[in-house]
Amino acid sequence: MYWAKSLLNYTYDYIDHHISTSPTPPPFEIPRVRFVDAGVALGYGQCSASSKPGGKSNTKAGTFSAVYLLKEHIMFDDNQEFTKFIHNMDYVPSLNEDQYGYDLAIFLAFTQHIQYVQTEGLVFVLDYQGSLTLLTDPQILTHLCVNDGDDVFGGGNIEGIVDEFKCKHSCNLYCRWPGFGLKPFVSLEKKN
Ligand SMILES: [Zn+2]
Repeated sequence: MYWAKSLLNYTYDYIDHHISTSPTPPPFEIPRVRFVDAGVALGYGQCSASSKPGGKSNTKAGTFSAVYLLKEHIMFDDNQEFTKFIHNMDYVPSLNEDQYGYDLAIFLAFTQHIQYVQTEGLVFVLDYQGSLTLLTDPQILTHLCVNDGDDVFGGGNIEGIVDEFKCKHSCNLYCRWPGFGLKPFVSLEKKN
């Protein structure tokens, strides 16, 4: 989550900087999203009676007993729904043009383009999901050369996928706006 937040914040810094220095504004609004706040909570044993009738507690007072991941709750209005914008092993929006959240999905694909280019092909965020303003459960994808190829960021970090980004990412209206200074990758839609 720290990596995802940092990468997304960096991406917005890139976007805002390029818009502020462009002679003309972009012909679109920039969606503003963020990842949920999250933290780790540790549980410790208390000096209390056994939890089991007639038995002895296995946890001594003050000893570590449990760990929890706490995440900010995503609230939805009636017309909103939890949405998977880009899947874990995909480079393009998981939605069709007429589906709820499509506009945000193509923006998130554009953020991957920035992250990939600005880290020189080392890392980008995948598995974008949540609401139209709050995202959760991201997956960080790193190149094989990161951490000497040893697995980082869990089993969902399928390092070989990073190599395929250039040929499988499909540039969209955000990528193509000259103010961002990105070299468009080949669009699969155009190729087909
Ligand atoms: Zn692109």
